[in-house]
Amino acid sequence: MGECSDLSQTPLFTFGVIADIQYADIDDGFNYHRTRRRYYRSSLQLLRNAQESWSESAIKPKFILQLGDIIDGFNKGRGASERALAAVLREFSSRGVQVHHVWGNHEFYNFSRSALLRSKLNSTSCSDEGSGAHAGADIYAYHFSPAPGFRFVVLDAYDVSLLGRDESSVKYTNALNLLREHNSNEDLNAPPMAEGLEQRFVKFNGGFSKDQLDWLDAVLSQADEKKERVTIVSHLPVHPRSTDPICLAWNFDELLAILQSHSSVVCFMAGHDHDGGYHRDKDSGVHHLTLEGVIETPPDSDAFGTVSVYEDRMILKGNGRIADRELLFP
Ligand SMILES: [Zn+2]
Repeated sequence: MGECSDLSQTPLFTFGVIADIQYADIDDGFNYHRTRRRYYRSSLQLLRNAQESWSESAIKPKFILQLGDIIDGFNKGRGASERALAAVLREFSSRGVQVHHVWGNHEFYNFSRSALLRSKLNSTSCSDEGSGAHAGADIYAYHFSPAPGFRFVVLDAYDVSLLGRDESSVKYTNALNLLREHNSNEDLNAPPMAEGLEQRFVKFNGGFSKDQLDWLDAVLSQADEKKERVTIVSHLPVHPRSTDPICLAWNFDELLAILQSHSSVVCFMAGHDHDGGYHRDKDSGVHHLTLEGVIETPPDSDAFGTVSVYEDRMILKGNGRIADRELLFP
């Protein structure tokens, strides 16, 4: 231990990553601007491909990170939310590997926050320190340590959002006021401007409450002390250079400031931007990885990754649209 790794070495452990499956039993469609095809039905087959690859690999992944938008919002109007979710979860459970689910906007198009908390998409029980491991009663954020010296934090990027919050709640009113300060459009899903960081103030995004930021800060302080390597996952990206700015979390800057103030953080993974992205923060050395979405991946390709973790780095082996990357620890 403690020596530099080389690629011939056996990893300490591996894990799988997959984002934006957005399954629905409907014909192919297009994104909002009709520039990208969406393969709603074949996304289930692409998940199957990922599961097959993970189960056939020499070293079985210790867990899977599902980065959100597991089923598409179109299911809701068709009364198919439960059925679609069952189909995708059946695929995930077929191999018996633990899955950590992140929540995205499409989770909230299909289910209320309270329904999600009661559903199989609540993987808080996979946290390893009981009740102390999550951020609060209605914030879906927790952390776990799959191996000594390593920690993963699941964040709730829709904690401050119009999505999933009861319209009569203070949290909803506060989120609406914040959004309206930046976006005067009647349709709040339309960005307030055509370019720049302000584009992020749309209804399909959200942010992190002060409660959650304080919780994260405390979790990371403990990790710093223990000299752990921390990977953080969220549906929304937080580095402007790792994504199209229209996909950024509302208060990405506050989250970035926390990441930059903790030596334990090595990587931030997100979904939501189906084109994917990557940027290494120069100041902190933190890798910001946005995973290409399954939903906009043609049936003859793939979109999943397998990450091998070593003492001094993680190696992402991408499949199909996802590139291989070496993620050296800062
Ligand atoms: Zn999304």
